[in-house]
Amino acid sequence: MKIILNNRVLFKSLRSFNDIGFVPTMGSIHEGHLSLIDRSNRTCKKTIVSIFVNPKQFNSRKDYRNYPINIKKDIKILKKTKKVDFLYIPKFKNIYDNDKKSNIKISKKDKILCAKYRKGHFEGVLDVMERLNNLINPKKIFMGKKDYQQYFLIKKYLKNKYKTTVIPCKTIRDENKIALSSRNNHLDLNAIKKASFLSKSLIKLKKNLANNKKIKQNLRTKMKYLEKFLKIKIEYLELRSIKNLKISNTISGSRLFIAYYIDNVRLIDNF
Ligand code: AMP
Repeated sequence: MKIILNNRVLFKSLRSFNDIGFVPTMGSIHEGHLSLIDRSNRTCKKTIVSIFVNPKQFNSRKDYRNYPINIKKDIKILKKTKKVDFLYIPKFKNIYDNDKKSNIKISKKDKILCAKYRKGHFEGVLDVMERLNNLINPKKIFMGKKDYQQYFLIKKYLKNKYKTTVIPCKTIRDENKIALSSRNNHLDLNAIKKASFLSKSLIKLKKNLANNKKIKQNLRTKMKYLEKFLKIKIEYLELRSIKNLKISNTISGSRLFIAYYIDNVRLIDNF
């Protein structure tokens, strides 16, 4: 695994390859990231992973400053997989230097779910993904369905401008059914119990909703119950079509999307 710390080395290292699989991350590597790497390794000739905590996609400075970082541990884990050919760890200036300001806008109809609650977040995500795509020029980008809206928007954005294909990969969960996330590092035991209860409860709810006509009403009731019982704040709990992310009234072809806060940690998931 070659560690790349600047763009000169990046271009030189990738020059002769045209079948590159790319796994963008913000580090604190976990099994979710490793599953994307495994998929890239099986699909593409070369796999490049990036670790870059992109300040421009954080709508809160505090959230950015608190984002868990552990580069040494990440390098060790990634090396051990023997599935990563290149690890790119750029600095801010490698991504944003001598480049024009972004004028990426999220359309009104896409200002739903996290785009509604995290102002400027996806504008920052699309901007950094376009820059990374231009620097690396991968054939395929592997992304987790855990962040489904992120996958959806990046795929739509890149499809119109580049040849790169964005591949969705399944969500990896722990034994408590909690979706793995770097932010889970901030959870204490009690918070983990709550997140586990919530995940199991939504998996069950989705099954029970299958033949139900009053889906919207059921979701509202469930949301209120979970908030009160677990003493958490739920930002949204919505059933949406996976094809276009429109609100859906049928379970088939749809997923339950949730964003919630446990002890000030914001988590998202979909079932
Ligand atoms: P992050 O480091 O959180 O920005 O995530 C980097 C990539 O890993 C994104 O494409 C995420 O959707 C994906 N990812 C994060 N958590 C998981 C998970 N539990 N299962 C599968 N993919 C994940």
